[in-house]
Amino acid sequence: MNLRSLPDRKPFLTAALALVTLAALAAAAISAEPRAKDLFGAKKLPAVVPAQSFGFYSKGCFAGGVALPMDGPTWEVMRPSRNRRWGHPAMIALIEKLSRDAVADGWPGLLVGDVSQPRGGPMMTGHASHQIGLDADIWLTPMPKRPLTIAQRESMSATLMVDEKTHLVKDALWTPAHTRLLKRAASYPEVERILVNPGIKKELCDTVTGDRSWLRKIRPFWGHDYHLHMRIGCQPGSPGCKGQEATPADDGCGKPLAWWFTEEPWRPNKNPDAPKARDLMTMANLPKECQAVLAATDAPSLAAVTYQGGSAAAVAVAEPQPTEPTETISSGALPAQASAFAPTPKIGIPLPRPRPGN
Ligand SMILES: [Zn+2]
Repeated sequence: MNLRSLPDRKPFLTAALALVTLAALAAAAISAEPRAKDLFGAKKLPAVVPAQSFGFYSKGCFAGGVALPMDGPTWEVMRPSRNRRWGHPAMIALIEKLSRDAVADGWPGLLVGDVSQPRGGPMMTGHASHQIGLDADIWLTPMPKRPLTIAQRESMSATLMVDEKTHLVKDALWTPAHTRLLKRAASYPEVERILVNPGIKKELCDTVTGDRSWLRKIRPFWGHDYHLHMRIGCQPGSPGCKGQEATPADDGCGKPLAWWFTEEPWRPNKNPDAPKARDLMTMANLPKECQAVLAATDAPSLAAVTYQGGSAAAVAVAEPQPTEPTETISSGALPAQASAFAPTPKIGIPLPRPRPGN
């Protein structure tokens, strides 16, 4: 060692100490920041502005949301107290279309679960995704003949379609009409993927004959045993929307599906109390446009932002606008395991992760 370097060691140590202190301060500042889920969860209405999604399905928000009406001729909204019947107008239009097409296919009507919060963003409970108005849960329970009361919509149990031990569909419950519903949802070009329990994917893989090309969009995932989760792509007018990589071109019935029927995906979570991304996210973790989305003035009334077959005054048409590139979506402040961009696949297979709420 060169003796002359010795006097330099002290400044180096000081600098290192300063860095550590800075990091601790930054961590403290982050923990004092309000959580994005509290801020977005408190919003009861969106603003009347052109529809636009910002960020990714599990890390973003959206402007110009509209509500799916509580009832339609071919659908009913479930768990209304959650106030999660909001979506991008294209999503709400598609749910209504699916409900009509499903009835034409012989399904009695849709029970619609969570779409998004009025302005999207992370939620207090449940989903990691559903943040940009482009995800919707549809129950695999047909709409009953008698209209459900509000109380029934809050309390009625969903039917679990998959045996928890075998991870196979319950034969007594699965019908060709369930398969037709999934095929119909997958048929829309806007729909990029549909998440279902691996048991449901396997049932389709084992039974669908003829055209199997739509199976590509049916993606196995934890949970999703009582509902299908329909995800549409980024919509025109949303340059800040970050799309998901395309699903592989094959039907997904081979090796990736077989992994779900090993014990690996079902190992107990070693760290069940670890915080989830939504529990840590602050506004700094979301695209910066989400600040404006949050701050915008409420619509004058619920009626003004309830979708009416595309004729609602509030359904403004977004014009493409130049926006900043999407690097503003930073995951820097989150522990890697809590990041919405947590590692995916070796061969397109999701790595085991804490089982999501749904
Ligand atoms: Zn979902």
